[in-house]
Amino acid sequence: MFDVIVLGGGAAGFYGAIHIAESNPNLSVAILERGKDVLGKVKVSGGGRCNVTHAEFDPKELTKNYPRGERELLGPFHNYCTGDTMAFFEKRGVQLNIEADGRMFPSTNSSQTIIDCFVGETERLGIKVLKNSSVIGITQLDKDDYSWEIKSIRNTYKAKKILVATGSNPKIWELLRQMGHTIVPPVPSLFTFNIKDERISGIQGVSTNANIKIIPTKVNNGKYNAALKKYAIHPSDLESEGPLLITHWGMSGPGILRLSAWGAQLLNDLNYNFSIKINWLPAYHEEGVLSQLYEIKEVEGKKTVLRTKAFEIPKRLWISLVKASGISDTDKWADISKNQIQKLAKQLTNSKFNVDGKSTFKEEFVTAGGVDLKEINFKTYESKILPNLFFAGEVINIDAITGGFNFQNAWTGAFIAAQAIAKRV
Ligand SMILES: Cc1cc2nc3c(=O)[nH]c(=O)nc-3n(C[C@H](O)[C@H](O)[C@H](O)COP(=O)(O)OP(=O)(O)OC[C@H]3O[C@@H](n4cnc5c(N)ncnc54)[C@H](O)[C@@H]3O)c2cc1C
Repeated sequence: MFDVIVLGGGAAGFYGAIHIAESNPNLSVAILERGKDVLGKVKVSGGGRCNVTHAEFDPKELTKNYPRGERELLGPFHNYCTGDTMAFFEKRGVQLNIEADGRMFPSTNSSQTIIDCFVGETERLGIKVLKNSSVIGITQLDKDDYSWEIKSIRNTYKAKKILVATGSNPKIWELLRQMGHTIVPPVPSLFTFNIKDERISGIQGVSTNANIKIIPTKVNNGKYNAALKKYAIHPSDLESEGPLLITHWGMSGPGILRLSAWGAQLLNDLNYNFSIKINWLPAYHEEGVLSQLYEIKEVEGKKTVLRTKAFEIPKRLWISLVKASGISDTDKWADISKNQIQKLAKQLTNSKFNVDGKSTFKEEFVTAGGVDLKEINFKTYESKILPNLFFAGEVINIDAITGGFNFQNAWTGAFIAAQAIAKRV
């Protein structure tokens, strides 16, 4: 028997258990973890460095990084935000460094530092960490204080309150569904786009700022519009401006990853078959580029188009787009036709690419989907359907873009649930 059982020994589970025990040292707390090791994802996170959080201290701004959960997280972030996460680690001797792009890592650049901190805290606070304890049953009891019976592959336990922090585990979602919760079907988020196209073959490694827009293909317009409606996606959510990286298999980089997150459900419905429109010169419109190209034609007539880069874009990309406009290696500005100039302006500002499939980004991915947000009280993270059952982390239908935001969701939810649990047991 425990006062509180935490299901799942991952990021949210440890953070929650530590805060429960710290807020109320009289409580007996246990973590049930399926694996033989705890904190497996923390270990591999951020390429082994663990991108703990992001240096965005304004709750409203912070919420903008969550395609699912933006509205619901505003209150929780006002309660517990990135500054609180920093304070938690610093108080325990873990120094966090901020990188130029805002991502924060332990100064040791090793995720083991975070794991050691968490494991050390559970020992100090007397939290029982039970490994190899996959949870296979959750039953609500109606008698006495101990309102929950938790069955693992090894034992049966009773608890007054439970915190479900099992990440994106389908079996636990199924148990929750049987108990009355709605589970938004899980789909992958944070992936790169597979594209086979002459214009980007052989120029992998090119990186540039671009405006990218997801559009339907000729044949799936109907499905695209239906998905927009079904997931209440605003077309502006399917447009992003940011760094784009050309890879061996297609396109990656923050601009693409952002679209993969906002479009996660829609792109899944389209079976990852869609098109994108790219403006390689996001500061310009097609007409502006066109008039600038005509000017260059006048002034630089004797120069070769291929070798006179008219705009600030990577050279290899310029050459590729020039060739795609039907302009040869030797054509001079004076030689090219109005039609070729128009084609070049289009390639620069309105290039269309067909995407066929997705790939993982540095092994990092998150799952969109999980317990329906409407069924959680975000003041306490308690289930509105099952009293004394709390949630935190990826088990909820909340996910973010890359940058430390997914962990911040785990820390914030776990902290708030822990306060509510510790107060009420
Ligand atoms: C390779 C990779 C790198 C990442 N890097 C980053 C990063 O640097 N920064 C960032 O913010 N996000 C990152 N993420 C996302 C981040 O890891 C997750 O959002 C986060 O771990 C979610 O925390 P959680 O506690 O909800 O789930 P998890 O960390 O997945 O923990 C869930 C735990 O529950 C256990 N469990 C599941 N089912 C059961 C069961 N039936 N019984 C008992 N235990 C069970 C699991 O074994 C696991 O230990 C990364 C993801 C991946 C895959």
